[in-house]
Amino acid sequence: KPMEGRITDIGPHKYDDYFPPVIKKNFGKWLYHEILEPGVLMHVAEGGDKCYTVRVGGTRTMSITHIRELCDIADKYCGGYLRWTTRNNIEFMVEDEAAMKALRDDLNSRKFNGGSFKFPVGGTGAGISNMVHTQGWVHCHTPATDASGPVKAVMDTVFEDFKSMRLPAPVRIALACCINMCGAVHCSDIGLVGIHRKPPMVDHEWADQLCEIPLAVAACPTAAVRPTKVEHDGKKVNSIAIKEDRCMYCGNCYTMCPALPISDGEGDGIAIMVGGKVSNRITMPKFSKVVVGYIPNEPPRWPTLTKTVKHIVEVYAANANKYERLGAWAERIGWETFFKLTGLEFTHHLIDDFRDPAYYTWRQSTQFKF
Ligand code: SF4
Ligand code: SF4
Repeated sequence: KPMEGRITDIGPHKYDDYFPPVIKKNFGKWLYHEILEPGVLMHVAEGGDKCYTVRVGGTRTMSITHIRELCDIADKYCGGYLRWTTRNNIEFMVEDEAAMKALRDDLNSRKFNGGSFKFPVGGTGAGISNMVHTQGWVHCHTPATDASGPVKAVMDTVFEDFKSMRLPAPVRIALACCINMCGAVHCSDIGLVGIHRKPPMVDHEWADQLCEIPLAVAACPTAAVRPTKVEHDGKKVNSIAIKEDRCMYCGNCYTMCPALPISDGEGDGIAIMVGGKVSNRITMPKFSKVVVGYIPNEPPRWPTLTKTVKHIVEVYAANANKYERLGAWAERIGWETFFKLTGLEFTHHLIDDFRDPAYYTWRQSTQFKF
């Protein structure tokens, strides 16, 4: 509906225009919440009002028909209100328990033709919520891996933990398809990050025509890019030289200059980081650390990646104390023991030996070393 004072429909409306009535009425007055069962939360307000939330897994890219069905469900049970979470879950809110049960059962009963859940209820508490992820091969220009593909394969592998809460604490998984990390990989219990392992190629024919060469030089954080002149087609042309020893394969120069493509079938793949978190509950927030330096891209089902993630989850589930996040567990037992228990190979690629603030070479400055 048009809002008073707006002269265009561009940009999001004010957030509270979309609050369900019970949320609006009790804004700032919520006392506590409980997780009644996987995927179902109950918030209780000072005056006794309750809000039951049913959370279902979604996808980051959705078809129109899927979105229409979500809206129909919201119309039927929730007065037309629903919300998307940062992890691509969808939450439906109702005000009484009977309505919550009817809604939950309806959501669980909706299946695709093959029999899989359309709107799986879950993703709360000490389980695995939906994955935050980035764009991948379809949408972005610097990915070292896909996003939707490995995310779907990983979520299928850990699906039982989306629908249950048997783990010691929440396990948040994220995927970023390059080290720009548009996803929350640096602060997730398990972070999957696409990495390049080869320097960009230089297309001398186009470098001077497609790029502002000084911009490509300025884009490189390790000063590996410099201007040069080369022979091409019998004439001297302005181009770019890459000092390969300095390159950390970040792809930043390609962002500035399409004549420096970095994607490579053999070089690209996925690193696994673990132990990060945003929450300050019990222990301080933490950054994730690299524990697997490289896994090749194996579309369509990424078997090595999914097996490794599942294995880390199982070792954590079997060994951590209740309420202990993955990183807190690894720190308590010591990272040496983490590698012993998981059987992951410890290699020099995993050592963060940053020393030189002047970025003398990338070998002293990053965890991604190939
Ligand atoms: Fe693009 Fe990198 Fe972001 Fe993926 S993580 S969407 S490749 S910038
Ligand atoms: Fe520099 Fe990154 Fe390009 Fe390598 S990939 S040359 S480090 S900007």
